[in-house]
Amino acid sequence: MSEKDRAVKIGDRRLSPESLMMSYGYDPALSEGAIKCPIFQTSTFVFKSAEEGKAFFEVAYGLRERKIDESLGLIYSRLNNPDLEILEDRLTLWDDAEAAAVFESGMGAISTTAYTFLRPGDRLLYSEPVYGGTQYLFNHILPEFGIETASFRATEPTARVEAIIEEAAADGKLRLIHLETPANPTNHLVDIEAVSRAAKAASSDDRKILVAVDNTFLGPVFQHPLKLGADLVIYSLTKYVGGHSDVIAGATLGSEELVARIKETRTFFGSMAGPWSGWLLMRSLETLKLRMTAQAESARIIADWLLEHPLVERVYYPGHLKEGDDDYEAYRRQCLSPGGMVSFDVVGGEKGAFHVLNHLRLVKLAVSLGGTESLAQHPASMTHSDIPPEDQRDMGITESMIRLSVGVEDPDDLIADLEQALAGLLSIDVPDSPGESG
Ligand SMILES: *Cc1c(COP(=O)(O)O)cnc(C)c1O
Repeated sequence: MSEKDRAVKIGDRRLSPESLMMSYGYDPALSEGAIKCPIFQTSTFVFKSAEEGKAFFEVAYGLRERKIDESLGLIYSRLNNPDLEILEDRLTLWDDAEAAAVFESGMGAISTTAYTFLRPGDRLLYSEPVYGGTQYLFNHILPEFGIETASFRATEPTARVEAIIEEAAADGKLRLIHLETPANPTNHLVDIEAVSRAAKAASSDDRKILVAVDNTFLGPVFQHPLKLGADLVIYSLTKYVGGHSDVIAGATLGSEELVARIKETRTFFGSMAGPWSGWLLMRSLETLKLRMTAQAESARIIADWLLEHPLVERVYYPGHLKEGDDDYEAYRRQCLSPGGMVSFDVVGGEKGAFHVLNHLRLVKLAVSLGGTESLAQHPASMTHSDIPPEDQRDMGITESMIRLSVGVEDPDDLIADLEQALAGLLSIDVPDSPGESG
């Protein structure tokens, strides 16, 4: 039995990730018996001998082949630190990934991953809408480095997406496909399996087209892109994984080989997370499944309630997909739950949406998501304001849309709050009547 098998199995039974989040990868004997992994708040590590220091650097800089079971020794906290190594080991469990790399932010993960695999002359294809920061990096910054970027709408039918990938790969320049699904804030789905298959079909022996999936909205509990054929999974750990709106961090997961290359870039870009972030995230991982399950249950209750509300024009929620709907097949195959994000259009356009946002009391008016407290915001003028209005409309982002991240409060309290904020819409002078906005 290998060391990893011993850690994750009792007899023949493979333990679930939630059972391993308190212990996996940590040996109390190395830390005075402390049941919790201490915060290794240190920038550098003492070598036992000069020979050991030399051996550690040989591995770190790839100066020789690693011996069997030889791991990277602790050198300096920009390269590695126990809090981050243990966190990375635990993160691999949910996605069944070979390896993980943690970053000081989700954008750190996305940019370091992009700069690892893209070079001038290469092309990146991505689904839209994506997170605002990702959109800016792909649209404004990568092109300045000679990297061509192109996008397709998450609303496109799968057959059309497959054709777009084939076309984008025809001249041999396509190197990376970046997906975000469910899309933020419309909750439209992209078929991960179909895109991964199309990317493989369009790859050649000397040019593999990699597929990366930003799994922040449903992962790591409710969606596992690597199992669907994707090469890389990216997280803003700031959101559900951190879960308490008190830490910024990110991660990229995948094969040993790809993650080793990403870690090399991370070492020299310096986009590594610190030990304190690592410790906070390990604490958060212990309750991740409990939180995400409760948030998803409440989101369903709220989404169903919103659907019946006369002042709500439309609800964007994967749990409402029905057989025959465009996204239904992808939903059935790739999502284990609809998750905790609900967007909805209210009557009255921007004015109506602002009225509701200004009158919420329990739900806080803030961007970000996935935390224990419920948050609401206005995508058109906040998270997605960098996108021109006509493109927003084309992606399905309306002026009257509110994006709600459901927290762990009592769902009936959240409904009471939404009810009183929506009721006020009747008293304001709205520019357009129900059915006309958006
Ligand atoms: C927040 C977010 C990011 C960026 O993460 P940071 O931790 O804020 O850098 C990327 N993708 C998605 C889907 C996000 O929600």
